[in-house]
Amino acid sequence: MDWMKELYSDLVLKYAKDESSRGVLEGALVAEDKNESCGDEVRLFLRVKNDVIEDASFTGQGCIVSMASAAMLVKAIRGKKIDEIKEILKNVEKMMKGEEYNEELLGDIVVFSGISGIPARSKCFYLAWSVLKGMIESLGEG
Ligand code: ZN
Repeated sequence: MDWMKELYSDLVLKYAKDESSRGVLEGALVAEDKNESCGDEVRLFLRVKNDVIEDASFTGQGCIVSMASAAMLVKAIRGKKIDEIKEILKNVEKMMKGEEYNEELLGDIVVFSGISGIPARSKCFYLAWSVLKGMIESLGEG
């Protein structure tokens, strides 16, 4: 497979331009992070009730990979239980490490399956996921 071609496929571009996953959620939990090496910024909003992500969105800017990844994340977690999201996170991390993972669970996210071989791009892909992971972990403590 031509991985670089895959990286900028129509699917990735579609997500990178997706407006329905973007925006500020008033009264939601907020966290953000930056990928200094590429200049990507992602701020993630989560509205949590009874261990379910009732709604999610993001704002930010950056390269196509970071923006598409954040949009995929938002779409993947909306309406899901915290436990389900932990499972998604676990599988995203496995994919990043080049280990076996549950393709069905990750859906469109698997378009980034080759990213483990490109460290600089991995950071772009993983930015939003690392923000999510921190938020989910802090929820567990609360
Ligand atoms: Zn980037």
